[in-house]
Amino acid sequence: MRWSQLLIPTLKETPAEAEILSHKLLLRAGLVRKLTGGLYTFLPLGLRVLQKIQNIIREEMNRAGAQEVLMPALQPTDIWERSGRYETASDVLFKVKDRGDKQWVLGPTHEEVITTLVAGEINSYRQMPKNFYQIQTKFRDEIRPRFGLMRAKEFIMKDAYSFDVSDDAASESYERMYAAYGRIFRRCGLLAFPVEADTGVIGGKFSHEFVVPAETGEDEMVYCETGAYAANIEKAVSSGPVTPTPKESTGGSPEKFATPGVTTIDALAGEPYGVPASCQIKTLVYSLEGRLILVLLRGDDQLNEAKLAGHLGTTLFRPATADEIVAVLGARPGSLGAVVGVSGNSGVRLILADEVLRGAKGMTTGANEDGCHLRHVEIDRDIAGIEWVDLRTVKEGELCVASGKALKIRRAIEVGHVFKLGTKYSEALDAKFLDENGKSKPCVMGCYGIGVTRTLQAVIEQGNDGFGVIWPITVAPFQICITALDVDPAGEPMRLAEACYKELTDLGYEVILDDRAERPGFKFKDSELIGIPLRLAIGEKSLKDGMVEIKPRGGEMEKISKDAAVKRLVELAGEMRRALEG
Ligand code: ATP
Ligand code: MG
Repeated sequence: MRWSQLLIPTLKETPAEAEILSHKLLLRAGLVRKLTGGLYTFLPLGLRVLQKIQNIIREEMNRAGAQEVLMPALQPTDIWERSGRYETASDVLFKVKDRGDKQWVLGPTHEEVITTLVAGEINSYRQMPKNFYQIQTKFRDEIRPRFGLMRAKEFIMKDAYSFDVSDDAASESYERMYAAYGRIFRRCGLLAFPVEADTGVIGGKFSHEFVVPAETGEDEMVYCETGAYAANIEKAVSSGPVTPTPKESTGGSPEKFATPGVTTIDALAGEPYGVPASCQIKTLVYSLEGRLILVLLRGDDQLNEAKLAGHLGTTLFRPATADEIVAVLGARPGSLGAVVGVSGNSGVRLILADEVLRGAKGMTTGANEDGCHLRHVEIDRDIAGIEWVDLRTVKEGELCVASGKALKIRRAIEVGHVFKLGTKYSEALDAKFLDENGKSKPCVMGCYGIGVTRTLQAVIEQGNDGFGVIWPITVAPFQICITALDVDPAGEPMRLAEACYKELTDLGYEVILDDRAERPGFKFKDSELIGIPLRLAIGEKSLKDGMVEIKPRGGEMEKISKDAAVKRLVELAGEMRRALEG
């Protein structure tokens, strides 16, 4: 294709709206344009990359035995009501009304639709395993759409759903997708790692996210450098806090003492009280269906809400308001505890305590009386009815449960997610089959997502330099850019450029011919900015000696005889491709 005819609106200046590098480059390289927050138009170059990524995904899904379908984005609400997600996912659901005032949903994901399909079409063990995938637009009412394609209101996802006769068979389907994901990201030139992920309210052990380490990522991954362990922080565990929890008795019974104005862990740790945070019990209060849940943590720990949701089996809890707390516990946040006035209190639904507090003695906690705390608290002796749960957020430097080495934490971008779902949706939506003995059973499901548009931007986030994008050849919008330094159609440079263009195109390469009547420096800068892996520059001066210049993006320029240029480009393109695709 000819550069002069394509819409490639490259920008010299960095647009103010873009916060992270990959978002800046998306705009600067003329790949996308914003319609409004969270909604983007793909321009010709951006769309070419998107299609490349989609094709890699398609090939690998097909290879793994999944079959492509296409489901409606517009969905009836009743299937969402049946799965329970009309309520639990309501924060991200786009709801629209038709002319008859009937409510519909714009699909944020498709478990409900695929399970409805399978309920109607599959009824025997002989028809399984099955795995259906689609590449399709999703809609999510994200609270904070940002970072370009990373978190959009409308984005493209590859979503796959497996249906199996048993848990073991479902694990095999899961493993196949897990392996396919590794191949997909490798072929896209992306360094993505599987990390153990939170299974949320569905539960179960089988869930991995594929993440790309990046400072701008919205996720945090906890990992051990030995490679023995990697998990999303929402799920991560460790051998416990670095400072041990006190286990020595300091008194015969809890003793109340005045702490006027002290409402934080830090204030109690400071003068004149001097109670280290690790010797305090922090009491958080949540509300679920009208009753309170007390969550006890060590003072220096943070609650991991994903773990709490997993334990409760719902996300419908929220922090209790000060008024709700005063009404049930008689004190305001800052003076709360579970020792006094909690046992037998009908307003308290549950007391959950983090495992780290097991056997803790000599602790200090709120007295459920404003301006007062209790010391010498022994958790097993003084608090009744505790449910013990792992609820804390792991910290850097704590020891890995697998290797015993110190854990590290890094920010990362989640590009994909594989998940063993079990029978939640097949039971809710009646996707049952008859087994060999004629017994009716729910299909065992898995679901597997890749954020296709997010992946595109993650490739940029990982592949760039001061001059622009560096596309891996497998996803580049064009593999080769031919830069004619003089564009007179009758002149030798342009005639040779046209001949090379034809030859390379006939060989199956995607070539962009920069035929614009601009200065060489300008054209070189543009081709670097849009990140074309190979560039062939043809100028009058070198041609006098029969030479042209080849430059891999991010590599060294080489002068070569004009007759050898095409062969050399083919060779370099092959090397680049083999490095990614083997
Ligand atoms: P996140 O935690 O980032 O919101 P998620 O857990 O909601 O992601 P899934 O429901 O597992 O995401 O969706 C599958 C994939 O779709 C994700 O791995 C991610 O790559 C992509 N994705 C999710 N939400 C968005 C979004 N708002 N914009 C772009 N891509 C997204
Ligand atoms: Mg999300």
